[in-house]
Amino acid sequence: MDQQDIRHDFGLRPIINVSGTMTSLGASIVVPEAVSAVAAVLPQFVEIDDVQKKASQVIARLCGTEAGFVTASCSAGITLAVAGAMTGSNLAAIERLPDTTGLKDEVLILSGHMVSYGAPVEQGIRLSGAKVVPVGQATSARAYQLDGAITEKTAAAVYVVSHHTVQYGLIPLDEFVAVCHARGVPVIVDAASEYDLKGFLATGADIALYSSHKFLGGPTGGIVAGKTELVRATYLQNSGIGRGMKIGKEGMIGTIAALEAWEKRDHAGIRERETGYLKLWHETLNGRPGVTALIEPDPTNNPLDRLKVFVSPQEAHITAWDLADALASGPSPIIVRDHEVEHGFFYMDPCNLHPGQETIVARRLVEELEKARQSNEVIATSLERRRNRRAEAQMRWPN
Ligand SMILES: *Cc1c(COP(=O)(O)O)cnc(C)c1O
Repeated sequence: MDQQDIRHDFGLRPIINVSGTMTSLGASIVVPEAVSAVAAVLPQFVEIDDVQKKASQVIARLCGTEAGFVTASCSAGITLAVAGAMTGSNLAAIERLPDTTGLKDEVLILSGHMVSYGAPVEQGIRLSGAKVVPVGQATSARAYQLDGAITEKTAAAVYVVSHHTVQYGLIPLDEFVAVCHARGVPVIVDAASEYDLKGFLATGADIALYSSHKFLGGPTGGIVAGKTELVRATYLQNSGIGRGMKIGKEGMIGTIAALEAWEKRDHAGIRERETGYLKLWHETLNGRPGVTALIEPDPTNNPLDRLKVFVSPQEAHITAWDLADALASGPSPIIVRDHEVEHGFFYMDPCNLHPGQETIVARRLVEELEKARQSNEVIATSLERRRNRRAEAQMRWPN
């Protein structure tokens, strides 16, 4: 390991991330512009409302909207935006939350959007004191169901754009907005991990929420963007339930710097570099016994592809999940994207690599696959045992 690597000083494993932008792995590589802005502001005093005014201008420009601010996370943004829709600018109501007595407090969400990004989306809604009203079924939702769920108590509707959600049979965002707006219900879009900063608000949605620390390469934070009145009501929650979700000056300034860098980012050049990594791994894997790799586009149309790697245990002498675990061990641990590994495949995401790591990844793939081929038996841990081992490790923390 590189002696300059701070992970060495803390006894942390020098993982290589081909999983994607994961909170559990430290999110993303923060862009140099944000790193230096964070370091420069940390020793200075600033007037926070003025920093947030500056953030508002930059967010408005990049998102093609009226206003915005930075909070602790996208998850915090969900809670605060729902709170803002319930209280408006009523400071007394803001201080009373999560007691919603006298307020509209029902929040609609499609059943197929009630997913977990590491915590349940609907808990982020309930944290404000709001009541969650699921609409439709897990894999189907129609406009009449949404319309029929709106009552005089409806405060807002939350729409989730993510690979985690059900990807078919649900109401598209523009129709969702049209139904809600016809009944005077504001729409809050959770677009935490999406590259498109303008498209969701362009449907007429009132607020869009993004994570600073995902594709933008900012420090940990959440971006709230949208129409001035609701953004202001959301911002005012900082003197209520938002206090425990506060972000510091470094998170605000770092997010502004990351947004400004995003405007100048060489999107085509970065895509080309990522495509090069995928081609290298594809060439490395194809033709190996029991391994089939193919390049697949992102399910929510972000401008990125991933390599989908199928492993046939009989021929490769190892299961997809045992290969994932083997890659994650040793002195150069590689973490793949294994959310669906029970189906016999994992993904490799090229977005969070430092140049040069792609060849380490290719070498480790070859090493582990050749080792497995030499094994007389198929390396096959039971999935249940693997799952239980992870759950037990979690319950043993910090030991
Ligand atoms: C990551 C994610 C979140 C949470 O974002 P944080 O900023 O990490 O709190 C919320 N919703 C979706 C769809 C996500 O992917």
